[in-house]
Amino acid sequence: MSKYKKSYYNYYFNYNNNTVIFNTLTGQISKLEGPEIALFNCNTSAYKPESLNSEKEKELLYKGMILNCEVDERKIIEKNYLDYINNNELFLIILPTEQCNLRCIYCYEKFTKGSMTIDLQKSVISFLEKKLENYKALYISWFGGEPLLAIDVIESMSKEIIALCKEKNVTYYAGITTNGTLLNEKNFKLLLNARVYDYQITLDGCQETHDNQRVDMSGEGTFSKIYNNLLIMKSFKDNFGVILRTNIGVETEISVNSYIDKIYMDFGNDTRFKLHLVAIADLTGELKSTIDLCDTSHLFPFYNYARSKGIDFNYYKSLYKPGGMICYAANPNSFVIGSDGNIYKCTVAFEEEVNNVGKLENGKLNCINRKLCLWNNNGFETSEKCKYCKFLPICFGKFCPLEKIIHHEEPCPPFKKYIERYFKLF
Ligand code: SF4
Ligand code: SF4
Repeated sequence: MSKYKKSYYNYYFNYNNNTVIFNTLTGQISKLEGPEIALFNCNTSAYKPESLNSEKEKELLYKGMILNCEVDERKIIEKNYLDYINNNELFLIILPTEQCNLRCIYCYEKFTKGSMTIDLQKSVISFLEKKLENYKALYISWFGGEPLLAIDVIESMSKEIIALCKEKNVTYYAGITTNGTLLNEKNFKLLLNARVYDYQITLDGCQETHDNQRVDMSGEGTFSKIYNNLLIMKSFKDNFGVILRTNIGVETEISVNSYIDKIYMDFGNDTRFKLHLVAIADLTGELKSTIDLCDTSHLFPFYNYARSKGIDFNYYKSLYKPGGMICYAANPNSFVIGSDGNIYKCTVAFEEEVNNVGKLENGKLNCINRKLCLWNNNGFETSEKCKYCKFLPICFGKFCPLEKIIHHEEPCPPFKKYIERYFKLF
């Protein structure tokens, strides 16, 4: 009887006449060359050696691609998931205001609410005072509307939260999603003082396409303002990171290469700035009349072009780690706090009733458990489709809980469908 078996969670790719194995349960990669390819025979799940003699086999055992027959990989997945939800990190997305100074043509927000009142800010702090001792880390993500319209709220709340974390010995991190138009030198300094180090800023391709889509209230384009602010950020020596999210629809596609040239010229030598290309998706079904959507497969010529210029996408690797593609909305320790105290799980569908899971009142999160369950326990737990999926250890059927709730089937991440193409990018 053989003592060993192959992992169910091995992916095999051909690359330059070699075979690359990627294991989704361990996140490890290995390369088979020459005779090793025949030895391992990736075309079959059969593998029955009496003992592991070669260095390569020992490496594959270490990386979880070969296993002792008694190992139950399903149990490891379940344990990994429990570790993920019990990791003692609290993730709060706070909307200091729900107003915005732009009117992007594909935006799903309704702008009916204003800034957080002082009372509500106190309520957030009082919630943290009571809850923080259960956690070892707190991550705050400032979101909106346009959060910088209420930078005073960010400034004063950050001061109190940072002091509280210090007092309770909790690690503090913060980031912001901003349209970048108000991110001038003064505001950027203030954010760095508030320990906001992760930035997500959107540019929709070059000036012409961006200015057609991301317009201010009077319909004026915003590219120059944002780009100048990015150059100001670059002039700082501090240690921060910017994800330059680039939404691509059919209309933007034409000019993406010239946009990439510009980004490479101005930011290509600064590793703090990372390019992120996104095919515009229509999760709430409201976009089709205003914009032509594009599929993720359309992005690969642009990825390849960017790579040929010297822009790398290595940071995508972190997505391919166990649990790396679970959306925060499925994390039981993650909440979105609206500017009026409403609690949500997802930042894309504030108008969906199912997303309004409760209210912050007097320092207490009063949530409706039935609704929370739809977000937190509604992936692989309730799915036949995910049961035998090789991608399960990465996504857990929780890539987009909103889509699962709306369409009753878990969407597979494009990173699964195009896994081989993404790996070739790294
Ligand atoms: S639930 Fe879906 S739409 Fe909402 S934040 Fe997660 S991935 Fe995005
Ligand atoms: S959602 Fe898709 S990729 Fe994710 S575990 Fe389920 S079947 Fe696999």
